[in-house]
Amino acid sequence: MATLNQIADQEWEVLVIGGGIFGAAVARDAVMRGFKTALVERNDFAGETSGRSTKLVHGGIRYLEHLELGLVRECLAERTILLTMARHLVKPLPFLFPVFKGDRFPLPLIKLGTALYGTLAGRNTLKTQESFSALAVKDYYPFLANAPIQGAVKYYDAQMDDIRLCLETVLTAQMEGAQAANHTEVIKIGIRSDGKYDVVLKDTLSGARGKTRAQVLVNAAGPWADKLRSKLEPQHKPMLLLSKGIHLIVNKKFSGDAVVLSSSDKRIIFIIPWREGSIIGTTDTPFAGELEEVRASENDIEFLRNEVERITCGIRIENKDIITTFAGLRPLAALNSGNTAKASRKHHIYESPPRFFSIVGGKYTTHRLIAEQVCNKIEHALGRGHVRSRTAQTPLLGSFDLQSDPPRFYIPAQRSEMQLSSLKNLLCTYGGQIKKVLQIANRSSVLQRPLSPQHPLIGAQVIYAIEHEMARTLMDVCVRRLRLDQMPGCGLDTVGQAADLMAARLNWSWLQKEKEILEYQSWVRQQTEFLF
Ligand SMILES: Cc1cc2nc3c(=O)[nH]c(=O)nc-3n(C[C@H](O)[C@H](O)[C@H](O)COP(=O)(O)OP(=O)(O)OC[C@H]3O[C@@H](n4cnc5c(N)ncnc54)[C@H](O)[C@@H]3O)c2cc1C
Repeated sequence: MATLNQIADQEWEVLVIGGGIFGAAVARDAVMRGFKTALVERNDFAGETSGRSTKLVHGGIRYLEHLELGLVRECLAERTILLTMARHLVKPLPFLFPVFKGDRFPLPLIKLGTALYGTLAGRNTLKTQESFSALAVKDYYPFLANAPIQGAVKYYDAQMDDIRLCLETVLTAQMEGAQAANHTEVIKIGIRSDGKYDVVLKDTLSGARGKTRAQVLVNAAGPWADKLRSKLEPQHKPMLLLSKGIHLIVNKKFSGDAVVLSSSDKRIIFIIPWREGSIIGTTDTPFAGELEEVRASENDIEFLRNEVERITCGIRIENKDIITTFAGLRPLAALNSGNTAKASRKHHIYESPPRFFSIVGGKYTTHRLIAEQVCNKIEHALGRGHVRSRTAQTPLLGSFDLQSDPPRFYIPAQRSEMQLSSLKNLLCTYGGQIKKVLQIANRSSVLQRPLSPQHPLIGAQVIYAIEHEMARTLMDVCVRRLRLDQMPGCGLDTVGQAADLMAARLNWSWLQKEKEILEYQSWVRQQTEFLF
């Protein structure tokens, strides 16, 4: 595990600022091409936008409306790569696109659109689309029984675990030789006369400071990219157009398939199966507030609730059905459009000042490709010969072990008190890395038991997060590593146990432990404030 100390007082060829998915992917590609690489994140990996997405690895069927065929094709090709690169975290998912009387697009057009989607996928197609009559839809999808349905089309895309995909990208970069530190913020940047950058870092937990040097800086600060660039070019033209999107996590499973609904504001809303319930989202509203204060408002929640009720003709999502909410900011490219819903999701890579690269726009789905393009530019800027990116052919950590060491050999051999649901959850979460979690679980029966009867999470995961996944705070463990806040009851009955395990492992004082618990409780309150 790297901290500020491992990154300070050195010269890096590439220093990546921002540990969301774009920064993580650039660090991985750069180190695999032989650059001396470091990554710093001021909060936690995937702690911002990259942990708050709709979790789709998709071509974006909605972009067909704006004829962004190139973007769709690019996304579909990346989808295929991610399905093998991270096979335990990215999985195919069927999508039902029902069409209702009075919808903006009639059924034949939706059929044509999904067929075009399949054509653009070419050899990357997951499965051919199917059509459903109104009667068949009502039969297979009872929650649509009262809706004035005309028919539906089923097509295929993919779903990911966004936080874990980002975290495993960081861990894989680290395994390849990069240094990565969370809770480490870039607070000052200066250009030296030789063109290199002096960077001042701050450990946001301890307050410690350090200096480091880099030949190339990559600005992967997402919604903070303009702020970061301003440290060097205070007068630069804004690169970003920010759009807020929120989701509801509900304890109700509508269907095993994702469902695509045409919203009244001429966009698309998804109902996606997620664990034992569903995710409903998203919204798309321009955002000009404080970047640290992004939350679902009462209006946002009401909008999604009303849309579901309107489309299903009567299914009301009550407050008791909502486990929690989450909200994020799309860091879109500020080109001509001020309309965030219509703004292109294409990415742009700017170089200004020299050897300072800013990533703007883009989809989670295309993160690997974006990183490849950034690294090509870095090679050029440093006058290096071209080394082909190997990221598309190299599986991520858990996926790699899954291929070389299939878990079926060691899971049955595991003699423990562990429940089947916990084992299943470990396999989906860690892929081949499950064996390291099981080794920790073998230390004591306490670490094998679920932390609560309400969910399958076990104590060994807390220790694994500290020892192998750079978790430093209770929030790192409970929100980013375990997603405890999205479990029924938001994990409020369990957080104390997780804190006890952390306190024992990290020698926290009683006061420190209580402070960490309070921070978690306050986070849960913020995400659920309009639900009571
Ligand atoms: C609601 C919503 C739904 C979405 N759904 C999808 C989807 O289903 N599929 C898809 O493909 N895409 C989706 N996207 C888009 C995708 O999530 C984003 O494009 C992507 O996550 C952006 O990643 P990032 O690394 O640029 O930003 P971030 O994840 O925000 O990372 C930037 C990081 O930089 C750090 N940082 C900032 N300043 C500093 C500093 N000074 N020092 C150190 N670190 C710093 C921040 O703490 C942050 O962690 C969605 C986006 C939103 C908002």
